[in-house]
Amino acid sequence: MTTSQSLPSVREAVRRTPAYPFTPIDARYKLDQNENPYDFPEELKVLVWERVRSAEWNRYPDIHADHLREVIGRYEDWDPKGIVITPGSNVLIQKITELAGIGQKVLTVKPTFAIYQLEASMLGANLTQVPLNPDFSMPVEDLGRELAAGGPGVFYVTEPHAPSGFLDDRAAVEAVLEAASNSWLTVLDEAYHQYAGCDHRDLIRGREDRVLLRTFSKAWGLAGIRLGYALTTPALATELQKLVPAFNINVLTAATVEVALENPAYMHERVREGVAERERVYARLSEHPTWQVYPSRTNFLLIRTPDASAAYRGLLERGLLVRRQDSGYTLEGCLRMGIGKPHENDAFLEAAFELS
Ligand code: PMP
Repeated sequence: MTTSQSLPSVREAVRRTPAYPFTPIDARYKLDQNENPYDFPEELKVLVWERVRSAEWNRYPDIHADHLREVIGRYEDWDPKGIVITPGSNVLIQKITELAGIGQKVLTVKPTFAIYQLEASMLGANLTQVPLNPDFSMPVEDLGRELAAGGPGVFYVTEPHAPSGFLDDRAAVEAVLEAASNSWLTVLDEAYHQYAGCDHRDLIRGREDRVLLRTFSKAWGLAGIRLGYALTTPALATELQKLVPAFNINVLTAATVEVALENPAYMHERVREGVAERERVYARLSEHPTWQVYPSRTNFLLIRTPDASAAYRGLLERGLLVRRQDSGYTLEGCLRMGIGKPHENDAFLEAAFELS
């Protein structure tokens, strides 16, 4: 790899920022990225293909995915003018951080989703991370103090939280959003909301200073198609849209998401199974002699082991790939396991007890 000193034209903030911490590894059971273990249904792929086939591939798509914004707007009961769509919600996190600008404040908790930190770091933002409570609930008073100091800046809240899986009660979410009303742009990231049965749209609606992020990568099982969206006011969406490159949603992505939204039953069925499997794995792992599993409202479980590197290797030797999570604040010994298909979860449980 080239050393950073040899790239003087690259901003120092970028050079100082580590790359997204992910190494692809092949394994029989892939439980490392919180994906949906089930592929998009074959019969829906056929519908997508029919639409894609009849589209004109030589033409640019909708400039801001206008038709898809309308379809999402109907599904979410949201004014399409207040919707911004990008290839994955990661891109929205980058663009929203850019909205605040170089040197502005970015506030979140720790541990947190890595992308909030990385984007803030690359932009040379002034990043503050307030430690979560030991059960991974939000430290409402501590956040309140930071928020009271004022923005402008971006405040990231994740419900349910990643990487712990914890869902805060509504009063806590309302309290921090209220405390941020003095000059912060609050981003509520609901990447896993279907698995938690939570919905904070009403706290965002009509608020010029709030954005809700959702994605098709988890419950909808479309991580490979790349589609995330922001729900906000038309005024804020207009500003955010300026930062998003034109024509960024391709014909395949648009057609797939339209077909998914017209046929949501498969998603609900998978979420039902995912939640039931999560609870089954959680209950069994709670009996583990040396591992501690945390309650989760997502499609993954955070597990504390006496030695993350030994547990990770032991699982991998048995064909199970999970994510090491032990480099973040208070996450010593932690691994994150994405809920898989029932037989994958069985394989995980068997390995976990062999490793005790
Ligand atoms: N937010 C959170 C909390 C996530 O865990 C993820 C995916 N790992 C994302 C956003 C981004 O999802 P995507 O870019 O696939 O839409």
